[in-house]
Order: sequence, then structure tokens, then C-alpha cells
Amino acid sequence: MLSYRHAFHAGNHADILKHAALTLILNSLNQKPKPYCYIDTHAGAGLYRLDSEWSTKTGEASLGIHKLWSHRAQLPQLTTYFACIQGLNPNATLSYYPGSPWIAQTLVRSTEQLVLTELHPDDKNLLKNNLRHSKQVTLVVNDGFKELLARVPPLLKRGLVLIDPPYELKQDYMLVTETLAQAYKRWATGIYAVWYPILASKRDHSDTMLRKIKQGAYSNLLKVELHVKGANSDFGMYGSGMLIVNAPWQLDTQLESILPPLTNILAQDEHASWTVEWLKAPT
Ligand code: SAM
Repeated sequence: MLSYRHAFHAGNHADILKHAALTLILNSLNQKPKPYCYIDTHAGAGLYRLDSEWSTKTGEASLGIHKLWSHRAQLPQLTTYFACIQGLNPNATLSYYPGSPWIAQTLVRSTEQLVLTELHPDDKNLLKNNLRHSKQVTLVVNDGFKELLARVPPLLKRGLVLIDPPYELKQDYMLVTETLAQAYKRWATGIYAVWYPILASKRDHSDTMLRKIKQGAYSNLLKVELHVKGANSDFGMYGSGMLIVNAPWQLDTQLESILPPLTNILAQDEHASWTVEWLKAPT
């Protein structure tokens, strides 16, 4: 079942947390000259119109990137993220929002390799049209979990895997846990960034997923969460998190510096909160 379309949600608070963390990690990988690979298991369309019928229907971007954009001067730590958005919107109006493949393609150097997997045929076609054609980029139509396991360990030994499934099906939580464990067994030095929603409903299985992942063999596990409102406000997504395996040096302090202003700006009620926590601290 492929009912999820990210165009409804592009530029919401969850995209902001995910893409802010993504740019910080890519910046960190860019500090060293050695080439790296970027594997996006659930790539989406790569680029989204914020003035589309889909986006305006949910209004999620209005509470997300539109709100943040007018306060961006408060977050100099996210200059790279804002530059990606500015590059798409040279005029004053915010009409486009970048997806993770766009951000990665913008930030990598000519030596890096990108593998982008997207299962939805429409989004895969959009992704193909939206990205710059380049030998660095491999686009794959396949199940992102299976593709990841077929790709690790990669030829380039440094790298980042973004795991960003829709979680519309309960099995995604279990697939994330199991695929991450198997991928890590084959490639223990890779950085893995897993996004997850925090829902005020019985469909939320993030606690169970985090508990199981914490029991795994990982030696370095950093968790960051942003809750934009209290759990009881409604039955929807009131926050999201990122779990980062092998977090780059100082990512924890970078996240700790951006989360307070980000939470203030994106808060939808007085219960908004954030956490940055080591589930397993590096030794
Ligand atoms: N990573 C994107 C970003 O940050 O811009 C957003 C991805 S969106 C949350 C999830 C995407 O996964 C959707 O485009 C959906 O079509 C795709 N998808 C769903 N199941 C998939 C699967 N098993 N393998 C690969 N892609 C899948």
C-alpha cells in the first residue's frame, strides 16, 4: 500500500528537525577530505511546492517552514539548511521546499556517491525530474529497506544512511529495527539517521521501536526529539524524533544549541518541548 505522499507534509516541523539534523551531519562529513556515500532509503520527490493544493490543504508548512523562515536570523547554526532553501527561492516568497535528496545533492562534493530509493512510481518520476542529472546519483525503484541491505557495506567506507519511512503501516517500525540491526552488523562504522513520528494515538509505536534499538549492539546512539505541542492536543503527530547511530563529534552540542530557539519558534501550545539524549554515549 503506497498511500503516503510527502507533498502534503513538506516543510512541517518534522521536516525541519530531520533536515536540520541532516545538514549538520553532512557538514560534519564534509570536514574531512575522504569521500563518502549517502544512502536515502525513502527519498520522496526531492522538491515540493509550498503553494500547491496539497500543501495548502494541510497548512503544515505554514506552522513549519513559513514560521521559521521569518525567524531564521535567530539560528545562525542552521545557515547551511537555510541556504539550501534560499537557493530554491531567490525572491522574497517561499514557494519551494527541498527534500532530503535535494539537500544531499546540494551539499555533497564531486567525490561523493548518492543512492536514492523511492518506491512510489509518481514520486520516483518527480525525483528524477527534480534532481540534477549526474553520475554521482543512482536512483532506484525498490523497497528502501531491501536496497539498503543490498548496498552495505558500501565501497566508500564513510557515509550516511537516512531512513525515513512513512510509518503508515505498523510494520515500518519493525522493519526499521531489523534493517538497522542487519545493516549495522555489515557496516558498523556508517552513520545511520532514523526519523520517527510521535503520535498521540495508539498508532504510535516509537517507544517500543526505541527500546528495541537500544537493546542492539550499537555503541553510539543519540536521540533528539522536538514536540511542538502537548500529547493531548489532538490525535495527530505532535512531535518527531531522530535517532542517530554513530553521531558525528559535537552533533549533540550542536543540536542542544538549536533546539531551544527552534522549539520556541515552532511551539503550537505551552507544552512544546525538546530533548537531546544519549541512549548510548560514545566511550
Ligand atoms: N526523505 C524524504 C525527505 O526528507 O524529503 C521524505 C520521504 S517520505 C517521509 C517517505 C517516502 O517513502 C514516500 O515518498 C513514500 O512513497 C516512500 N516509500 C514508502 N514505502 C517505501 C519503501 N518500502 N521503500 C522506499 N520508499 C518507500
